[in-house]
Amino acid sequence: MFDIWRQALTYLLLSSLLSLILWAVAGPFSAVVVFAALLMFRWLFHVRNLVKLGYWLESPETRNVPEGEGPWEDVFARLNKMVREHRKERTKRASALHDMELATSALPEGVVSLDKTDHIEWFNPLAEKHLGLDSSRDIGQQITYLVRQPEFVEYLAAKNFAEPLLLHGARQDDLVLSCKLVGYSGNKKLLVTRDVTRFEHIETMRRDFVANVSHELLTPLTVVNGFVETMQDMPSLENDMARRALPMMGEQTMRMTHLVGDLLTLSKLEDRSNVLKEEVLDVPAMLSNCYQVGLELSAGQHKVRLELLSDAKLTGCAEELRSAFGNLMSNAIRYTPPGGEIVIRWQVLADGQPVYSVQDSGIGIALQHIPRLTERFYRVDSSRSRATGGTGLGLAIVKHIVNRHQAHLDISSEEGKGSTFSIVFPASRRVA
Ligand code: ADP
Repeated sequence: MFDIWRQALTYLLLSSLLSLILWAVAGPFSAVVVFAALLMFRWLFHVRNLVKLGYWLESPETRNVPEGEGPWEDVFARLNKMVREHRKERTKRASALHDMELATSALPEGVVSLDKTDHIEWFNPLAEKHLGLDSSRDIGQQITYLVRQPEFVEYLAAKNFAEPLLLHGARQDDLVLSCKLVGYSGNKKLLVTRDVTRFEHIETMRRDFVANVSHELLTPLTVVNGFVETMQDMPSLENDMARRALPMMGEQTMRMTHLVGDLLTLSKLEDRSNVLKEEVLDVPAMLSNCYQVGLELSAGQHKVRLELLSDAKLTGCAEELRSAFGNLMSNAIRYTPPGGEIVIRWQVLADGQPVYSVQDSGIGIALQHIPRLTERFYRVDSSRSRATGGTGLGLAIVKHIVNRHQAHLDISSEEGKGSTFSIVFPASRRVA
């Protein structure tokens, strides 16, 4: 900057000096003419360099920065340096972006980036394959316009992305995708898709196998049970051994029948073609019946109370909810020593969510077991579970029913003090 000023002032000074000398030698007219000519020459010199700059600015990507003279030499040299640095930086960024693109292409999962209004910003080749997208056509499109399955549209709208969504037939009929949405940078989202067709196939085979075995076992069990009962009732049975063995046989076949029954219930609940039967349920009336069953089960050994804090009705499947409510109640009775207290409660929370809960003052559950309670056959104390006729499948069944009603199961418990199991329904299931 200083150099530019210095050069400009030097030129002005020299021109003035020359004009003053001319004034003294040839008179004022010649001095003014020469001074004006010198200024004009300098002006033309600047215009020439500005024209060069203007020409370069028309297409800075393809043209080289011009070379200047005088003060312009330094200006153009600095401009040239800036342009070279900028090009180097741009090449570096482009190569980093290219590496990122290669890395995301190599990802074993499909990735779609969505803006805050769920329009597609970008996707990798695997997402293209999974969802049948086309990069030349679909960038900027609303994702629900291209992935139209109602369950996906609901998943996106519900904004509860804790669990992945299983999407059947996204592109081809036999393709099963696990879709997970992850929020980032404010309201943007990443949709991550994984092909789980093979796992689903194995899972279906496992489910079918369990259902078939259970079904096959049911008939022989019923026959054996029938014979055991008939033999137990025979007054002429004299063999001492048989007299002792028959009640045990009866008990064990009954246990197996319950187990097979629970396995069949689970298979039915897991079956995707088994659509939830929705009806309006008078929950208080249902719980009054449940309470009577509870009193019978407890046989006067516990203080069982029913607290109906709301008369709200619910939409859902009567058979399934009766089973879930009964399961939690029978668990409370089975895991509470005699003299303990059990409260069955129906209420609507301040935010409108209906809640069924069973509170007991029983043996309670240590914290580390709670997350695993709804797994099949997970028992804190196997002998107690078996002794009270448990199959280890009750809470797994409850969890399935709860999920099918878009509700959630809350478990709070303290070892030695008691537990509270609550089914929290979405407010939308409440019938005013
Ligand atoms: P089970 O047939 O063994 O009762 P569940 O699936 O119903 O099977 O329950 C799983 C395990 O959770 C039980 O074995 C028991 O250890 C524990 N559990 C369930 N309910 C209660 C409760 N109210 N109090 C204490 N433990 C419980």
